[in-house]
Amino acid sequence: MEKVCPLCNKMKEINLVCDKCDGVMLDIGRVQDYYDPYGPQDPINDADDYCIHLFKCKKCNNKKKINIDKINT
Ligand SMILES: [Zn+2]
Ligand SMILES: [Zn+2]
Repeated sequence: MEKVCPLCNKMKEINLVCDKCDGVMLDIGRVQDYYDPYGPQDPINDADDYCIHLFKCKKCNNKKKINIDKINT
């Protein structure tokens, strides 16, 4: 059985509230898509049980990393 990230697979959406301005924070993708694009992939990004997503506030551009638990398919 394979575990997949519900956000990467568009099975689920999560909206967070910005802790700075109360704005809406949107999922903008996996952290590794933004993290050091010029270097080799960081092995920490390939965790088995979770996927790290980056959320960005629509209003103030505050960014936050959230661990998304992968689910069994
Ligand atoms: Zn994901
Ligand atoms: Zn904000």
